[in-house]
Amino acid sequence: MEAVKSYRIPVEAPKDLIEEYFKVKQRALDAIFSHVKISKKAHLNLKAEDRKKLRDELLREWKYSKHYVDSAINSVIGLVKSWITLYNRGKAESKPEITKRTVYIKSTLFSFRNGILKISIEPNKRYLEVDLTKYPWIHEDFDRIGGSILTERELIVTVKKSVEPKAEKWASFDVNLTNVTSSINGEIKRYDLKELYHIHRTYETKRQRIQKLSKIKPLTSRRLLEKYSGREENRAKDFMHKLTTQIARELKEKNCGAIMERLKSVKDKILNHSKKMNRKLSKWNARTFQFMLEYKLKWLNLPVKYVNPKNSSKTCPVCSGSMASYLGRIMKCEKCGLAMDRDVVAVLNLQMRGEGFPQRALDEIIEREGLSRNENNNSLCIPT
Ligand SMILES: [Zn+2]
Repeated sequence: MEAVKSYRIPVEAPKDLIEEYFKVKQRALDAIFSHVKISKKAHLNLKAEDRKKLRDELLREWKYSKHYVDSAINSVIGLVKSWITLYNRGKAESKPEITKRTVYIKSTLFSFRNGILKISIEPNKRYLEVDLTKYPWIHEDFDRIGGSILTERELIVTVKKSVEPKAEKWASFDVNLTNVTSSINGEIKRYDLKELYHIHRTYETKRQRIQKLSKIKPLTSRRLLEKYSGREENRAKDFMHKLTTQIARELKEKNCGAIMERLKSVKDKILNHSKKMNRKLSKWNARTFQFMLEYKLKWLNLPVKYVNPKNSSKTCPVCSGSMASYLGRIMKCEKCGLAMDRDVVAVLNLQMRGEGFPQRALDEIIEREGLSRNENNNSLCIPT
C-alpha cells in the first residue's frame, strides 16, 4: 500500500511560466470543449488524432519543457470530464472555466538528488531549484516524490512511501457539528469544534450576503465569493489539520488504528434554513476529518476501517436494545435502562462494529451504572 503526503514550500515561481501555462490551458479548454457533444446527455468525443493535433498546435509557440503542454491538456480533459458529470446531473453552470493559476509538475519534469529538487522550466537551460534540506519539517522518511503543484508563491510537493498498516488496538470517532467524540481503546475523549463552527458560520453568513448581491453585480459578487471562500476554507482546513495531526500522534503512541463511519451521500431533504446549513457543515467536518486523519494514519503505518453507522446512536451498546431521546443529548435504553450521551453511544457502537467491544469501556459502564456482569455469557445483568 502506498501512503501519500504533501508539503507546501514557499518558492518564487517563474511568473512567465505560470502565465503562459494559464493561457495554454485556456486555449486547450476552448479546443477540447468544442469536442463535447450534447444529445440527450453530454459526452466528450476527443479522438487520439484530435489530441495530437491540439498538442502540436500548442507546442508551436512553446519554449518551455514539452511536458507542461501534456499536463495542461490532461488537466483540462479532467476538468471537462467533471463538468460533463455535473452537466448530466443537471448541476453544471454554463461552461467550465480555468480560474487558478497553478501548474501541475509531473514527475518527468524534475530530478531529486541530495535533497535538491530540480524542476525543468526550459529544456536544458532553465531550472527551478528547491532545497528541501532547508525545511526541517519535511522528514526524509519518504521513498519517492510524486507530482507537484506550482503556484505563484508556493510549491506543493507530494511525497510517497510504501506502508503495511497494522495496529494492536482500535479507536473510533464520531464527528458532528461542534465536537469529535472518540473512544480510544475504550477511553472516551472529546475534541471541541466550537472554534471551527464559528469559522464556518462567519463564512456561510458572508456567503449568503454576497449571493444576494449576485443579481445586481454578478462579477463583483463572484470575486468576493472566491476571496472569502478561499480565506475561510483555509482557516477551517488549518484547524482540522492541527486537530488530525494531534490525534494521529496520540494514536501512534497507543498503536491504535481508527474506526470511522462509512459516509454516504444523502440527498438533502427539505429542511429549514439553519438545519440545512448545519447539516452541510456537519458533513464538511466529517469528510474533512476522515480524509485528513486517514492519510496521516496511513503515513504512520496505522490502519483505518469504515463501518456501517446505521442506528449507531440509537442502539444500546450493552444490550442492543433500542434507545430513545431522554434528556438533551442523553439517550436511554428502553430495554436495560442504560443512559448515555448519544455521541458516546455512537463511538462505542462504531468501535464494536469494527473490532468488538473494548473491555475498558465495558468496565467503565459497569462501574458507573452499577451493573454486574454475568460471567457465564458475558452479558450484563441489571440490578433490581
Ligand atoms: Zn440496553
